[in-house]
Amino acid sequence: MLEDKNQEKTSLEKLGEFGLIDHLTQHFKIQHKSTIKGIGDDAAVLDFKDKKTLVSTDLLIEGIHFDLSYMPLKHLGYKAVMVNLSDVYAMNARATQITVSVAVSNRFPLEALEEFYSGITLACELYKIDLVGGDTTSSTTGMIISITAIGEAVEEDIVYRSGAKPNDLLVVSGDLGAAYMGLQVLKREKEVFKVNPNNQPDLSAYSYIIERQLKPEARKDVVELLGKLNIKPTSMIDISDGLSSEILHLCKQGEVGCNLFEDKIPLDPTVISACEEFKLDSTLVALSGGEDYELLFTIDQKKFPDLKGNPNFTVVGHITDKHEGAHLISRNNSKIPLTAQGWNSFAKA
Ligand code: ADP
Ligand code: MG
Repeated sequence: MLEDKNQEKTSLEKLGEFGLIDHLTQHFKIQHKSTIKGIGDDAAVLDFKDKKTLVSTDLLIEGIHFDLSYMPLKHLGYKAVMVNLSDVYAMNARATQITVSVAVSNRFPLEALEEFYSGITLACELYKIDLVGGDTTSSTTGMIISITAIGEAVEEDIVYRSGAKPNDLLVVSGDLGAAYMGLQVLKREKEVFKVNPNNQPDLSAYSYIIERQLKPEARKDVVELLGKLNIKPTSMIDISDGLSSEILHLCKQGEVGCNLFEDKIPLDPTVISACEEFKLDSTLVALSGGEDYELLFTIDQKKFPDLKGNPNFTVVGHITDKHEGAHLISRNNSKIPLTAQGWNSFAKA
């Protein structure tokens, strides 16, 4: 689709690498005192004073992690930032800077990269993030994006994946499975479009799940809320690969077991109806779907009154001794071992 319109668009060759970098990054403003030097030198200079620095990076490859036939570039830019910020928030830290590296082939005109950067701009504005650097190069085939997120926290606040203790409660923010079901709808529409390009689909019934797939939000608000509630989780992880795989990470690193209750898993009603339509089991979708970018954490039972009744949180289970293993307690009360069916980029389709 991009090729057809390239005639009226600006080729990247015209600008050259430095012109392109300038053009794409000129409007970004520095918002943090910790950013001493941002874009424009050989390296960014940051100063976190007496705080600890957190660094997390992700690589996104066209055709593996995203499909431009249903992912608008603006959304892709926004989502690529969210995916990285989510990892910093999962440490109970504040995200402050990002670097963005991108490789594209000559099928991408300047306007395509402008779209991509408009999503990055929006994410930086809404989440108060400084863009402090990156790299720009060409690719022979698809688009490649690598974003590094940097954050800060006082040492005592940092929450690791390890640290869950028997009898701790297992808590998730938001609801699960929506991003995966949004992807199913988008994939189906792509097939319909191939057969009948004139078909104008009415996707309004799916707007929530499609938005969760195309425009996820990292849970900065949850980290702030936990701070206000004076709750420091004993362990935490973000849900990128599906609840099951993330729970197993917490159990493994904390050397504990857990019971997860199927009837407690938070599901949006539109996820339940989409699962019925696609003949998928909603529990399996929540366990293995991925890309929810919610936070999964454990808290001491004593802290339960502090988050009880808060609509942002659902207690889905509790931590047990290691030898008890990690289980799903199903609706009919059978005990099923949890397996990591998390999304595996090396699995054969
Ligand atoms: P170098 O030759 O040292 O790699 P570059 O010319 O690639 O330097 O980059 C110049 C400046 O622009 C650096 O500050 C770099 O971090 C920044 N930069 C390069 N590409 C991007 C990008 N895609 N997004 C944001 N900043 C970028
Ligand atoms: Mg460079």
